[in-house]
Amino acid sequence: MAIKPKKKWKEISDILLQMKADTLREIKKTVKSGAETQSVGEPSGDIYDQASSERDRELGLLLGDREREKLHNIDEALLRIDEGEYGICEECEEEIPLGRLKAMPFARHCVKCKSDLEKLQAQTKRFEEDRAYREIPLGGEEEDA
Ligand SMILES: [Zn+2]
Repeated sequence: MAIKPKKKWKEISDILLQMKADTLREIKKTVKSGAETQSVGEPSGDIYDQASSERDRELGLLLGDREREKLHNIDEALLRIDEGEYGICEECEEEIPLGRLKAMPFARHCVKCKSDLEKLQAQTKRFEEDRAYREIPLGGEEEDA
């Protein structure tokens, strides 16, 4: 019998779960300072999963895009682990080296495909910026680092 993906990626899923816990702690701090009415007890596990749909919505509103995206990435990576699709490049279907995954647990592409994609994105971005610059001189959009 093949190694269960969960077991194979134990180390990575630990990293991901830790990241999730950290992110949720950050969010909770934001929620606490933002809304006095919230009476959230001690963090006992996963507040995000336990949250009622109403609180989910509140969290959703309070979450910054960055946190939301991070949580989304974490959940997606965990899902891919569950489904045995984790660690495989979406472009060329080669296995992504473990070292890369440890450094970037959300990585969905091998180094080669990633750099190809980034080149492509940079080209597209340059084109869009060029166009935006010409059309709207007051371009003040936030960069997504
Ligand atoms: Zn690849």
